[in-house]
Amino acid sequence: TTTHFGYQEVPIEEKASRVADVFHSVAARYDVMNDLMSFGIHRLWKRLTLERAGVRPGHHVLDIAGGTGDLTLQFARRVGPRGRVVLADINESMLRVGRDKLLDHGVGGNVEYVQANAECLPFPDNHFDCITIAFGLRNVTEKDAALRSMARVLKPGGRLLVLEFSKPTHALLSKAYDEYSFRLLPKMGELVAGDADSYRYLAESIRMHPDQETLKAMMEGAGLARVEYTNLTGGIVALHRGIKL
Ligand code: SAM
Repeated sequence: TTTHFGYQEVPIEEKASRVADVFHSVAARYDVMNDLMSFGIHRLWKRLTLERAGVRPGHHVLDIAGGTGDLTLQFARRVGPRGRVVLADINESMLRVGRDKLLDHGVGGNVEYVQANAECLPFPDNHFDCITIAFGLRNVTEKDAALRSMARVLKPGGRLLVLEFSKPTHALLSKAYDEYSFRLLPKMGELVAGDADSYRYLAESIRMHPDQETLKAMMEGAGLARVEYTNLTGGIVALHRGIKL
């Protein structure tokens, strides 16, 4: 089947992964947990991502691994009625929560919801002015394939922004952060969402994720140019940006 804007849709039944399971079980409480676990700071990280995206009226934007649509919501307001934002995610439950949230905010006409795997995006070459992947890349198995796929569907001159957990720049912060993510986080997950395992997985996936310089090199390897990054909150998170030439 194809969607309203003509993109190819891939049914969820064909996809079964541990990641999908994790996000099915957290989808309903995802936004509350995000605020709780980051003490609301994820909102600031996302605000900076929006600023650096440079999205203007009429632009086509892809928010891949967009989940419950925090970035999509803001992009939809910026691109206006002539623009288009695709909220894409591998997980149907997350997309559904995202769609409901956007509708509650009165956003809809210029947003498309597509179930897709970042590793093989079902969009034409040279299609988007901007692509964001926020707290999504670390869940993707084939990260290089995903970066190449994103580079392929970007227009020349288009920007890719990767917002992701990274490596704290100071040893002391690193220690405190480990303590927080491996001890406190699963406990919070258990208390608030009744699900310690998903939050244990979260802490593990953060520890495994490539650091700032490694990710920069991976983006360059995928064909992106002028790749730079900004450390946020002492490097707990980093925002990478690259341009397709
Ligand atoms: N971008 C949103 C945000 O910042 O709040 C959601 C981030 S959430 C931590 C990660 C999302 O990545 C989940 O919704 C999950 O379903 C999605 N995801 C995981 N693997 C994916 C893949 N291979 N392709 C597309 N989305 C994926």
